Amino acid sequence: MMIEKIFSFIFGAVIGSFLNVCIWRLPKDLSIVKPFSFCPKCNTPIKWYDNVPILSFIILGGKCRSCKEKISKRYPVVEAITAVMFLLLYAKLGLGADFFKYIFFFSLLILVSFIDIDYHAIPVYLCFIGIAAGLTISAVDTLNYLRMGFFDWKGIPFVKALWALIFGFGFSYMFKFFGDIFVGLYLALRKKESIEGETEALGLGDVDFMGMAGIFLGIKLCVLTFFLAPFFALVYAVFAIIFKKSHLLPYLPYLSLGALAAFFWGDKILRLVIMQ
Ligand SMILES: [Zn+2]
Repeated sequence: MMIEKIFSFIFGAVIGSFLNVCIWRLPKDLSIVKPFSFCPKCNTPIKWYDNVPILSFIILGGKCRSCKEKISKRYPVVEAITAVMFLLLYAKLGLGADFFKYIFFFSLLILVSFIDIDYHAIPVYLCFIGIAAGLTISAVDTLNYLRMGFFDWKGIPFVKALWALIFGFGFSYMFKFFGDIFVGLYLALRKKESIEGETEALGLGDVDFMGMAGIFLGIKLCVLTFFLAPFFALVYAVFAIIFKKSHLLPYLPYLSLGALAAFFWGDKILRLVIMQ
């Protein structure tokens, strides 16, 4: 339905605008509710008609109305990504409970990705909010499941979610454990302190992320996410070498792209790999 597509897109742009506020304020421990948005240069509060997602940036030509300071392109980009994301999710899921479950999940991925790009770390509570929400949703699903009358331990949504959470944690922690030993050995042999301050193969934030991905994607697609991420990182690495940018990799954006690819095309990718 056209009207629902338009609704998803606009809803996504509005949530994207809120994500911008969160990306900017959460790492600084600032409130995301008060005060309303203001220009970081001249402190002028931004009027509602200058705060319309995507459109205002275009109308204002990317400049603050009062002081003409350039506004970061990041803002309309995050809004557009979120808007398209919501549209894709609507196309796949329709406007049911799953739509709201996955717009929450993917909004959180956009949030942690951009904070990770800026800080190379994320507030620890973000993935735990995702995990708590995922477990709550699966608990509600469990009530519906039990109401249907038949009973199979392995089919209970909450049991499945809990098992996927433990698996996501354990699986990625195993890679972190052996990866860290490998990186440590490499640095010791080369008698180097670290590569641009990086001493770990994976951060604990990545392990938390994989636990969350387990709950929302299930074990199979969670594993696929983990193995798709390096391919996205490789594309960036080539780009970084050509344009001589820092090769320090915030990893959450690649895990997020991996999760995106796994969610939308996971079954196709797996069929291709296993060649069924
Ligand atoms: Zn200004």
